Amino acid sequence: MAASRPKVAVARPTAAGGIPAKRRGKNARLTASEPEPTAPAPAPAPAADTWLAAYPGLKQKLAKLGIFRPADLVTHLPLRYEDHTRLTPLADVAPGVACQVEGTVIATEIHYRPRRQLVTTLSANGGQVVLRFLHFYPNQQKLLAPGKRVRAFGEPRVGFFGVEMIHPAFSVVADDEALPDALTPVYPTTAGLAQSALRKLVARQIERNPALLQDSLPPALVARLRLPDYGSAVKLLHQPGPDVSATALEERTHPAWMRLKFDELLAQQLSLKRHRRARQARTAPALRGDGKLVLALLEAVGFKLTGAQNRTWHEIKGDLGRRIPMHRLLQGDVGSGKTVVAALAALTAVEAGYQAVFMAPTEILAEQHYRKLSAWCAALGVRIAWLAGGQNAVQRRTALAACASGEAQIAVGTHALFQETVILARLGLAIVDEQHRFGVAQRLALRGKGAADGRAPGGIAEPHQLMLSATPIPRTLAMSYFADLDVSVIDELPPGRTPVITKLIAQRRRDEVIERVRAACATGSQAYWVCPLIEESEKLQLKTAIETHALLSAALPEFTIGLLHGRMKADEKARTMAALVAGEIKVLVATTVIEVGVDVPNACLMVIEHAERFGLAQLHQLRGRVGRGADESMCVLLFGEDLNPVAKARLKVIFETTDGFEIARQDLHIRGPGELLGAKQSGVPLLRFADLEKDAALLETARGVADDLLRDAPAVVEAHLDRWLGGREEFIRA
Ligand code: ADP
Ligand code: MG
Repeated sequence: MAASRPKVAVARPTAAGGIPAKRRGKNARLTASEPEPTAPAPAPAPAADTWLAAYPGLKQKLAKLGIFRPADLVTHLPLRYEDHTRLTPLADVAPGVACQVEGTVIATEIHYRPRRQLVTTLSANGGQVVLRFLHFYPNQQKLLAPGKRVRAFGEPRVGFFGVEMIHPAFSVVADDEALPDALTPVYPTTAGLAQSALRKLVARQIERNPALLQDSLPPALVARLRLPDYGSAVKLLHQPGPDVSATALEERTHPAWMRLKFDELLAQQLSLKRHRRARQARTAPALRGDGKLVLALLEAVGFKLTGAQNRTWHEIKGDLGRRIPMHRLLQGDVGSGKTVVAALAALTAVEAGYQAVFMAPTEILAEQHYRKLSAWCAALGVRIAWLAGGQNAVQRRTALAACASGEAQIAVGTHALFQETVILARLGLAIVDEQHRFGVAQRLALRGKGAADGRAPGGIAEPHQLMLSATPIPRTLAMSYFADLDVSVIDELPPGRTPVITKLIAQRRRDEVIERVRAACATGSQAYWVCPLIEESEKLQLKTAIETHALLSAALPEFTIGLLHGRMKADEKARTMAALVAGEIKVLVATTVIEVGVDVPNACLMVIEHAERFGLAQLHQLRGRVGRGADESMCVLLFGEDLNPVAKARLKVIFETTDGFEIARQDLHIRGPGELLGAKQSGVPLLRFADLEKDAALLETARGVADDLLRDAPAVVEAHLDRWLGGREEFIRA
């Protein structure tokens, strides 16, 4: 018994069960007390299509876990381990520390109070422990008959009758049955699939299918990286022997974990870089203009580009001039001036005789782009079509016809509109604002909307794509999930901005804040008042917005108070925004519809109610709506009572920094990449094992290795991607 070994992180004991009733022999090891068992352990099936054909139920459950082939079982790694390699004497059992015990059953009875339950008492060497089952099968009582030798694993607590374990995993054992010599893995699983069944399935593949353990990488490379070979790494993680450091397993710093994490990151890099290469083999129109419109716009805007705007503009211009489809992400903090850079790109397409579309996630934002572009381009003679949900049939038909004929040179509208209906005669460039709201399917659809081109395969040239993002992406995320894109960063704000002052004020002091609003408006400034986010109920959120509007209208009768929410018709929204821009509306009460992109430089005060309910990125975006003019701006974050620690952490970050990159880094730290990427919406498969923060160094290495392999070893690339991605979605965003 390896009693001196440090204890492995053992969380809740899990009820584990799962040998089919029919197969339970007299001496079968049994760890039951779960719903009826499910997984007969079938012989490994070699190919994906015959895989578990005889067990469709099991196949479905495994599919839920992302396991489609035998190879996927091998990379289905444990969440944690339980230490079944040693026994704790009954007399030494300590409450709260999971452990394994063994003893002889002295009694098994069904009790009826406080509710029906099976109570078994084990005894050994003068100690006793009670096993308590609130759910049990009729045969369990027989199985645990007095005199049987039972081994149980669970977390003891002190109950009414002394030390007890609730729903321990247990098995009936022979008197001198050996203990396992490896830690017992606990896998991520799904309803109806017992740990013990999953363990068997995995173990079988590892024992009987040596092909699955073969290294996909050349030994020389593995040696150079100082990583263990794949087979032994996988074996170790599934069946760690008694000498393996529990801490290294738990913290995933063990070389075996490093190997698996490296392989995963490498697969991601290979996949993304391969997409990038495939794109480079496709054709786009070379957009080279005479620069006249660009020059005219630069004169019309009335400001000088910042150094960062200038640099990013030239990066984009370089891409547009090539016959390779550009997929470039233009990243810049809120208010850094991405719109004008995008407009320069659009005009370059126009100069070259092509069309550009400008898409935004919301009507409000699309409308604002339309107004801004129209104003800028008024003197340039560029024809802009506007496509909105609220248009009447005639307006819409006219706009669509202008796009289809090529008469409209720039078209502006929402993401959704373009995807559905619009045909463009000569689409050369698609600009996507707030790209994180733009799904993979939408991007693929864009590809097919290009202009006719005799020299392009299929006769259609693919449009260039420029994605704008105000959500700064931390470097590690950019290197991993966005490795297929080129990234330009505007890392400088236009001059003359005064930083926004952020105040944290308790919600109960709302009345004082209303006075602040009055004072600001009295000096000619304007204000936003953002209503609390109520995720559970859109209706309630709407109600709150309407009430707040009524309240502020009553409190500030001398000013016009506007209202903006998601349920308004597009033309109502547009009228409200126009009135705000014109300065007629002094205070705009809004739900989060104003989250992205709204640009009213005269607005200097932003009040956010129940700021603790918003995410960091959202707060940063909202705050970015003020501080766009030369006047000093303020953002008041009202917070409710009883803040939870995460909400507190968020408010602290937003209070302490206005740097979008730092906020994004903290956000990644607090929320993890899934949320930051909006993975749920866009369907990006996430890394399962590697942690972008902790494993940044591995990521760097994987990047370099991916380049080498793509260049020198296509067969290795195939084998590696097959292992990691076969049957799964690719790591791809576009
Ligand atoms: P975002 O990057 O958040 O989309 P916008 O493109 O809306 O930012 O620009 C924010 C504001 O800054 C706009 O009013 C825009 O006209 C103005 N602006 C952009 N570039 C400059 C510049 N170089 N100098 C001064 N003002 C600028
Ligand atoms: Mg913008």
